[in-house]
Amino acid sequence: MQRDKAEPIQIQCPKCRHTEIVYIPIEAIPRCPECGTPMIIKELLDEGKST
Ligand SMILES: [Zn+2]
Repeated sequence: MQRDKAEPIQIQCPKCRHTEIVYIPIEAIPRCPECGTPMIIKELLDEGKST
C-alpha cells in the first residue's frame, strides 16, 4: 500500500445521494450502483477523518 499515491475521495450520486469512497488516481468515476447516474466528487478525504 502506498498511501501517498492513494488519496481517498468521496463521490456522490447527484440523483439519489448514494455515496462511495474511491481512491485516486482513478480510471473513471463510477456510476451509481443504485440508479446508474454518473457520480460526482463530493469531497477530498485527506484529513484522515473517519465517519
Ligand atoms: Zn444514484
